[in-house]
Parts: sequence; C-alpha cells; structure tokens
Amino acid sequence: MTPLDLSEALRALEEKRLSLSAIVDELFRVISEREPTVRAFLTLADKEELKAQASAQKEKPLRGLPIAVKDNICTVEFPTTCASKLLERYRSPFEATAVARLKAAGMVVQGKTNLDEFAMGSSTENSAFGPTRNPWDPERVPGGSSGGSAAAVAAGEALAALGSDTGGSVRQPAALCGVVGLRPTYGLVSRYGLVAFASSLDTIGPLTRSVRDAALLLSVIAGHDPKDSTSLPVPPQDYTQGLRPSLAGLRLGLPVEYVPKELGPEVLALVERWCATIEELGGQVVRLSLPLTEYALPTYYLIASAEASANLARYDGVRYTLRVPAEGVGEMIAQSRALGFGREVKRRIALGTFALSAGYYDQYYGKAQRVRTLIAQEFAEAFQRVDLIFGPTSPTPAFRLGEKADPLSMYLSDLFTIPSALAGLPAISIPGGRVDGLPFGLQLIGPRLSEARLLSAALALEEALR
Ligand code: GLN
Repeated sequence: MTPLDLSEALRALEEKRLSLSAIVDELFRVISEREPTVRAFLTLADKEELKAQASAQKEKPLRGLPIAVKDNICTVEFPTTCASKLLERYRSPFEATAVARLKAAGMVVQGKTNLDEFAMGSSTENSAFGPTRNPWDPERVPGGSSGGSAAAVAAGEALAALGSDTGGSVRQPAALCGVVGLRPTYGLVSRYGLVAFASSLDTIGPLTRSVRDAALLLSVIAGHDPKDSTSLPVPPQDYTQGLRPSLAGLRLGLPVEYVPKELGPEVLALVERWCATIEELGGQVVRLSLPLTEYALPTYYLIASAEASANLARYDGVRYTLRVPAEGVGEMIAQSRALGFGREVKRRIALGTFALSAGYYDQYYGKAQRVRTLIAQEFAEAFQRVDLIFGPTSPTPAFRLGEKADPLSMYLSDLFTIPSALAGLPAISIPGGRVDGLPFGLQLIGPRLSEARLLSAALALEEALR
C-alpha cells in the first residue's frame, strides 16, 4: 500500500522530490493492480487527461493533486449515478460546491466511487453496478455507503476521497477499511450538489489516510455557501493551523451504551487499551450514560426514510432518469421507478411514505422528531461534563459479503454513528487497532463546530495507536 498521504505528497511536490506525473503514474499503477478485485471506482479519468488537467493547477495551493469523489456528489466531467440504474446516464450540468472548492484550491477529480444506491446501506452491496470489496480481505465488505471512497483510499488507489455521511456513511466504511473518516457538523460543509437522501442529516466529509489530511480537506470544503439554505453562516477556517496532537486536560466520555458486552472480549479489551492510552496522553476518561441511544436507530430510520421518500419523488422517468416506455404517463412513471430503483431504496420509500401518511404522521414522523430533539439535548448535557465522547465506530470489523442479508442486522452496524448524526454533531473515525486481524475504528464525537478540538484529539490518538 502506498505510504504517501495528501500532506506528504504536497510536501514532496514542494521540495521537488516527486513530480505530479510520477504521483499520478503511481496511483494508476496501483489501480491497475488492485481495481480488478476491489472495484472502488464507477468511473475513472483517463490517465493522460488527468495529468494534463493536474499540471494546469500546479500553481494553486493543492498543486494539481487528484481526489476521488463519491458518485452521489455532482461533478461536470463525469456521470453522477448514485449507483442507481435510474441515473445510469445522468450527467450533472452543475458541480457540487465541495468539488468546486477543491478545484479552486487546485485539486483534480480522479474518478467517481461506488456506493450503496442513493447512499442507503452500510456495505456497498446495494450498488446497482456490483459491490466494492474490502482491500484488506476481498471476501469482506468495505462498509458503506461510501465504501468505494474508503476502499480506494485504503488500497492506495487514491490519496484521499470525498464521501457523504447521513447516518454513518463516512465513518463506518473508514473504520472497516482502516482509514480516517470525518463527518463535519451539519451545515458546515455545503450540501449543494450532494444528491439528497435525507436532507436534515446529509453531510459531505473527507476520507483520508491521516488526520492531518482530514484537517486539510475540511479547510478547503467548509464555510458558508449561499446555494445551500441550511449552510451555517461561518467563515472558512484553516484547520491545519493550530492542529497539534493534544489530549492533555481533556475529559473524554465513554458512554456505557457504546460498549455493550455483546461486542465480545477482543473489542472490549481494545477499548480498555484506548482508555489507558487516553490517560497516558494526559486525558481523563469519564464513564457516562446516554440512555436514549437505544431509540436512535428507529428514530433515524423513520426520519431518514420519510425524507428520502419525499426527495426521491423527483425521479419520475419524465426528465433526466431512465424511462421505460409504457401506455400512459402514470404507467410509464411506475414502470421506470419499478425497474430503476433497487430493493433497499424501494423499502425506504415505502417505509417513509407510510410514516408520512395522513393519520400516521404524528404517531411516527412527529414522534421521531420529538425523540430526535431529546437525543440532541442528551448530548448537549453530556458535553457540560466532558469535552469529547468516544467509543467504537462500528460494533464489528468488516463482515463478509452477503452476511447481513436481513436489513435489520445491516441497520445495526450504524448503532454508534447514528445518534450523533441525529444531533448534527461532528465526529471522526480513526484506525484504532485490529480485531480478528482486521482494522477497527475509534470514533470521537464533539459538540457542534468543535472540529478543531476533535481533530487535535484525533491526531494525538492516531499517533499513539499507530
Ligand atoms: N447506513 C445508513 C443507512 O443506510 C447510513 C447511510 C448514510 O450515512 N448515507 O441509512
């Protein structure tokens, strides 16, 4: 696996130890070697075209370095399929703000990565174009839904990637592939050009080989965007300034609900090792309880599915999607959707439509919204007593393809990423060690807009656990 991360590549370019062309060659060499098994990309740039584009960016801060982008984030030079048959031929006429900002800073888009259709899933098996495989073990999933982005970075096919996190889709695949994944505070990074799944939860975040790279990319993509009405009115900030490995004096909360004994002895022993490391670094471990954790999953699946059912109503076969010719408009729409959407997407649309239907609205959607508020309050109260919260990112390391055929068991793999997503909080997953010989992620969660503190703490733990 290529040892180079984005920051090292930048330094090597500055010091003229490496050329841009050599970096692109190396990425494509790894791609030709590993991509036939891993299948992280849905579309890939032509190598020579990419080099030409890259060299035109040489004078900009990020010097023409390539980045992979999840295929639910709009780019103008590639299709944006959301790994759905319905959008197989869709080419966006506009570009996501996050991508536009990366380009303005001098990056080039290397290709578009695989995902669970419309970002619904935790394994990248729900892609209409076939699954991505975990570079650590091709019999296993890379996690999801940003599985293509995580696998590309882990395999050394990309220096870094963008993903999206609605309920865990950046953090969980990062954990399962042994890379870093950051979910920013809701609204910190513009959602403009991110294909909507659940608008009140969707975020864009970086998947990288190091915490430093996550800080670097966040600095480029964060900040207010008038094109997104939920974008926070905060100015851009350089998160690499002031990034120091530091845990000293910090109180780190470990919720009992994030370490149930069902996780098994190997995971629990690893968590104890994290606790010891935190204390050695001058931090203080505070055991606490977040009792509403048990309601997070049902709350999320009602809210996310309800919003998805509304958002996905736009794919009707009339405009830019797949169209199945049929007798009459109604029949055409029905058949296009029947053929275009996969099983999991249909399941969410059905559940969401039910939850929003007259007579049930308050009983399901209304109640879920009230529980969501309570979950956010519970976090806010916890952050009166601790500076950050930590625990495993996901209950297990990478599981086998086909292992979680029952949707409920798949939903459970987001148990620890969903509560903070409901509360709109920033969270990061870093490599925390091995379980069963596979990467296992450590998650840190912070209060709203605490990215600077979160990244410095993550850097300290990254160095200590390496
Ligand atoms: N796995 C969760 C879901 O299926 C989260 C997905 C995401 O964050 N996009 O909804």
